[in-house]
Amino acid sequence: MSNNLDTQVFEENPFEIVKRQIQISADILKLDPQEVEILKNPMREIQVSLPVRMDDGSVKVFKGFRVQHNYARGPGKGGLRFHPQETLDTVRALASWMTWKTALLDLPLGGAKGGIVCNPKEMSCGELERLSRAYVRSIHPFIGPDKDVPAPDVYTNPQIMAWMADEYSVISGKPQFGVITGKPLCIGGSPGRGDATARGGMYTIREAAKELGIDLSKATVAIQGYGNAGYYAGRLCRDLFGARIVAACDSQGSVYAECGIDPDEAYSCKCETKSVCNLPGVETISGDDILELDVDVLIPAAMENVITGHNAGRIKAKIVAELANGPTTPEADDILYANGVHVIPDFLCNAGGVTVSYFEMVQNFYMYRWEEAEVHEKLDKRISAAYQSVLSASKQYNINMRQAAYVVSLKTVLEAMKIRGWV
Ligand code: GLU
Repeated sequence: MSNNLDTQVFEENPFEIVKRQIQISADILKLDPQEVEILKNPMREIQVSLPVRMDDGSVKVFKGFRVQHNYARGPGKGGLRFHPQETLDTVRALASWMTWKTALLDLPLGGAKGGIVCNPKEMSCGELERLSRAYVRSIHPFIGPDKDVPAPDVYTNPQIMAWMADEYSVISGKPQFGVITGKPLCIGGSPGRGDATARGGMYTIREAAKELGIDLSKATVAIQGYGNAGYYAGRLCRDLFGARIVAACDSQGSVYAECGIDPDEAYSCKCETKSVCNLPGVETISGDDILELDVDVLIPAAMENVITGHNAGRIKAKIVAELANGPTTPEADDILYANGVHVIPDFLCNAGGVTVSYFEMVQNFYMYRWEEAEVHEKLDKRISAAYQSVLSASKQYNINMRQAAYVVSLKTVLEAMKIRGWV
């Protein structure tokens, strides 16, 4: 009994998962245990308590984190989540995935991540602004355009990035908008950042479909999660491929329609009624069922640990494109690989966001703005090259795509660590 519980906790702690994933590929590469120890552990962790004046006059204290996992290749980079279930271990795992993501895309950046334990759905705009500013005041010494650059993630958005860029600039006594990416265009945001995560994922799906001989114009797609990434994924599957979205879900429930769901209608429905479940003419299905549908492409686009040892055997999709961070556990990976499911691992599939964030940093340093088409083209080139390098490592070592992605990234980060004299 206690064993089962231990296994369950182990299986679901994202930081334990990422360390296991690193170890698996480190073993394939026969890395020195001392090197692996550095690669597994965050280099700096910041924890803050943020007193915030609420609208009713009371003061509430929020817990916040910023974890800088590895900066061998450059300044820390990674999003900031506002979530009621945020934990230090989750942020550690997400920071670690950012290290592998930036390395895989060959960006001159390290990996970092932030989180604040809060429920933004229950907070007013003013409360969110005061919380965002308090966070920046607290971590100001540790972030900066050439130090560590936060960005949007789950339940944070360009408005929150704007408040943070403003607070940092006020403290610095000069405009320093490059401290953050995912900003609105009028203060140095990049064209193409809004749909970048989903768009990057589409380019990897296109490469995977070529490899597997799947005609995406006839493909069916299920999208688990309908936030920024999920919604744009729906739109782009339709616009770039002509694929049919047959199922979508959000935190309220899941819907299915054999003849197809219009991604824009689903989005309007979510904005107006707070859920895709109120769409007319669709069937309601369970949250587990959406993952197990007989579709060509399954896109997990929400949170961690949704595909586990318990349901992986029932996944029928040919391609699992992980727009979320950490949706699949190592137990599930083994099952999916054995069943011939082609997984495009998270830190490859969802790397479009940070790649365009990097383009935003470059534009900010140059005080220049690129055309959106240029952003798309540069993103396509980088992420398609990353996909091909992962695919060829998976063939060379005869390993699954996630192990292959780690093989490529671990080698890249290690090279920088060695040349800097760390090991
Ligand atoms: N939050 C996104 C991610 O997990 C983007 C990070 C960034 O733009 O720095 O990749």
